[in-house]
Amino acid sequence: MIVGGGPVGHRVAERLRHHGHEGPVTLLDAEPGPAYHRVLLPSLLDGSLTPADLRLPDLPDVTLRHGVSAAGVDRRLRQVRTTAHDRLPYDTLVLATGARPHLPPVPGLRHASGWLIDGVTGLRSLTDCTRVRGDEAVVLGGGPLGVETAAALRRGGRRVTLVHPGPYPLDDRLDAEAGELLTRHLAGLGVELELGRVAAEVQPGKVVLDDEWPLAWDTLLCCTGVRPRTGLAEAAGLAVRTGVLTDAEGRTNDPAIRAVGDCTESAGSLLTGWEQAEAVARSLTGNPAPQGLSGRRRPVFRLRVPGLTLGVLGDGKSGAGDEIVTYRDPARGRYARLSLDTTGRLRTAVLAGLPQALATLTQLYATDTPLPESRLALLLGRPAPRTGPLPELPPEAVVCRCNNVTKGALAEAWEEGARTPEALTEATRATTGCGSCTEEVREMCTQFAGSTP
Ligand SMILES: Cc1cc2nc3c(=O)[nH]c(=O)nc-3n(C[C@H](O)[C@H](O)[C@H](O)COP(=O)(O)OP(=O)(O)OC[C@H]3O[C@@H](n4cnc5c(N)ncnc54)[C@H](O)[C@@H]3O)c2cc1C
Repeated sequence: MIVGGGPVGHRVAERLRHHGHEGPVTLLDAEPGPAYHRVLLPSLLDGSLTPADLRLPDLPDVTLRHGVSAAGVDRRLRQVRTTAHDRLPYDTLVLATGARPHLPPVPGLRHASGWLIDGVTGLRSLTDCTRVRGDEAVVLGGGPLGVETAAALRRGGRRVTLVHPGPYPLDDRLDAEAGELLTRHLAGLGVELELGRVAAEVQPGKVVLDDEWPLAWDTLLCCTGVRPRTGLAEAAGLAVRTGVLTDAEGRTNDPAIRAVGDCTESAGSLLTGWEQAEAVARSLTGNPAPQGLSGRRRPVFRLRVPGLTLGVLGDGKSGAGDEIVTYRDPARGRYARLSLDTTGRLRTAVLAGLPQALATLTQLYATDTPLPESRLALLLGRPAPRTGPLPELPPEAVVCRCNNVTKGALAEAWEEGARTPEALTEATRATTGCGSCTEEVREMCTQFAGSTP
């Protein structure tokens, strides 16, 4: 039994079948409709996609209960109590209850009853998108979600103000120069920016900033972080800190219960939700852990704002003695800062406006391969003759992060006859989110062609 039908719970169900689990699988999800790509929600705000476009593949051999929540877990009897007033037995329970938006404690945001005032919402679900109304939107929080949401609302024709306490959006990930490029890009789209400010008070239709400047809104979107949804696990007596505590294969302190995705404690975990789903499904079906995933964390961040390719590899922190390579072309909106360790491997990088370089560097970073000697040729997308071919990414490596398409899925599509980048897109949906993996998919297509007799 899986509780939570977000992208990670859905993935566990899919991978259980893939790895040969034959017993019944039941998936409960509190949301009323079928599972969908949560990360693509901003595309609904600009009208570029419809809810139907976001749907995840059907799970034909899984009993789906949408609109039904798990209300409690009886660990002794191994039963889940549901809001539909039934008790469902399980052999193994997988908690994938995700996270909920964290709203800042700004006076006026909530009624005395605790409910949000009309027009205020987070952005986590399809239902949240239906709460967006009117012409005037204020977005609180200039992290990835706030920036993507503000850009999407603007593209959808609304007047948008982005309020962020830092000196520029994404200031916890970008250096000042990349931040300046992003700020300029957003301003060019027509997003108003209130930087170095926070909301001090909210009133219906008005938010007052800490410099007492009032902003009018029809919708106030709070993109101010998330918190793991752990109530069910806590009530069941499982070990919880900020999230449900698990080992690398999702085991909780109850051997019959696993937990995956955003509801788990991320500190110290080396795997993404996607990789956790794979690890849990393999472990439950007695398949060995995938090679090359565990033991090293290689975070890759790509911003999904059309017209700007912006990515961060690693945590942005250079090491002592690192070689620093910087490239600036502000007039063309291009910037790169690479930090290489003493072996010439990438420790961290920030790139803007350089899609091909970002694709190549992502692959070099994922495979921990030293960079070619000509750093400049690489940044300009003219790779110098390499000493050898790029090392292979493992099949589990996610290439399209919007649609969670792995290299393995692309290879399968290739084997089944998708022999061009366009055909690979058609078969897997890779590149159809933000499009920032287009270069990678193209490069991979060339690799597959080169390795097929
Ligand atoms: C716009 C947007 C962009 C994002 N971009 C990125 C990105 O670029 N990279 C990235 O890594 N992450 C990104 N994220 C975060 C990403 O969406 C989450 O990491 C991912 O959704 C986590 O999946 P999950 O299945 O663990 O949890 P969730 O997606 O939160 O799903 C949990 C599900 O469980 C259900 N549920 C909860 N409690 C119960 C219960 N008791 N009974 C039944 N069902 C229950 C909920 O209704 C929900 O459907 C983004 C999120 C958003 C909203």
